Amino acid sequence: MSKVRIYTLAKELGVDNHKMLEILDGLGVSYKSVSSTIEEDTVELIKQIVEEEGAAVTGGGSEPDQAARTEPEQAPVEVQAAVQSGTVLSGTLEPAPGQLPVEGRATEAQPRPSEVAVQEVSAAAAQEIPHRAPVVTIMGHVDHGKTSLLDYIRKTKVAAKEAGGITQHVGAFEAKTSKGRIVFIDTPGHEAFTTIRARGANVADIAIIVIAADDSLMPQTREAIAHAQAAKVPMIIAINKIDLAQADPEKVKTDLTQLNLVPEEYGGDLIVVPVSARSGEGVEDLLEYISLTAELEDLRADPKGQFSGVVIEGKVDKQAGVLATVMVQEGTLHVGDFLVVGENYGKIKAMTDSGGARIKEAGPSTPVQILGFSDVPTSGDKVQSAKNEHAAREVIAQRASDRRDEEDARQRRKAQRSLEDIL
Ligand code: GDP
Ligand code: MG
Repeated sequence: MSKVRIYTLAKELGVDNHKMLEILDGLGVSYKSVSSTIEEDTVELIKQIVEEEGAAVTGGGSEPDQAARTEPEQAPVEVQAAVQSGTVLSGTLEPAPGQLPVEGRATEAQPRPSEVAVQEVSAAAAQEIPHRAPVVTIMGHVDHGKTSLLDYIRKTKVAAKEAGGITQHVGAFEAKTSKGRIVFIDTPGHEAFTTIRARGANVADIAIIVIAADDSLMPQTREAIAHAQAAKVPMIIAINKIDLAQADPEKVKTDLTQLNLVPEEYGGDLIVVPVSARSGEGVEDLLEYISLTAELEDLRADPKGQFSGVVIEGKVDKQAGVLATVMVQEGTLHVGDFLVVGENYGKIKAMTDSGGARIKEAGPSTPVQILGFSDVPTSGDKVQSAKNEHAAREVIAQRASDRRDEEDARQRRKAQRSLEDIL
């Protein structure tokens, strides 16, 4: 019996992944992720549903949305039985929209995460907030191929800028793929991730854990996994160096299961992609899995909202002065905007994108290099905008005063403790 992956079927039927999971939920079919496989019988049922719903399923309107959602208590059991016996109870599968209990949603017990996402999507407010590109970080043990993988993606997926544009290292780059934009944090290693996290910010939406197929799990691999788990960032495992004769990807998968990370082909929900940063094999698949994961995460940001961002990197350039790479997370940055970082502020004199091209504005999930700060900001610092210079000064004055109050309080506590010690 042939099995089909959920996302493959979704693609084949021209239905988006959310919708596909919704249909599966309606059928009471369990799955771990979009890369889980489903039985042939179920595939047939889904094809039938999609066919019968026609435009309704692909249309994504709110009424068809409900039609696709079968009655939660009874339908799954019956359909499950139908799936097992091989018979098709089409009557159960296509209730007339009018027959659906209106309060069906409200009476549902704990919705699955995918359902929550679907519900959020269908909320009118969320629909107005556009999707944004995923921001990806690459972590793993030294020499397992992080830099090589980033280089390969950059070489093949970043359109070369015209001569004259100075390509500087900015700490991030944007790859254009058939599935849309993917932003890579280009300072591999845990430091970038942990320093940013230690300052209370989270830049990465997805973590790629690179594991060399000839070396398997190493101490820094485990650390990287722990970091991603602590940050609750979805992980994708890239088993690298599969071009090597001594490559043993199966061992990597088995070793992962010992950490309770079960690859989906072993029945778990961990996405594992074999790649070679040398030959490029599997890299396209990796990008596709990144896009799939991003789609499920339903990443959105409002370009018209209040600006907020995070410093990826700050440095002093001998000619230009202080340069800061900032990831735009919400809102849009414009040349001339006033920004506040920690207890410093600056006015954007010039902005370049990660390819070195001058830009005037930058929306969500865009890494930009900014000229205009007087002090070098630290990676992980949050960046906010201010209406004007006066407002910017006020914000930092307040921050400085808060910090002094906090320091005073700490001194007092320390003095109190030493007094207690003496007594
Ligand atoms: P990093 O420390 O994780 O950034 O690892 P690097 O990207 O610097 O790679 C370490 C070494 O492994 C270098 O000599 C690379 O050429 C080599 N390497 C990286 N990826 C591959 C690969 O897919 N296949 C092979 N054969 N070698 C690789
Ligand atoms: Mg490296």
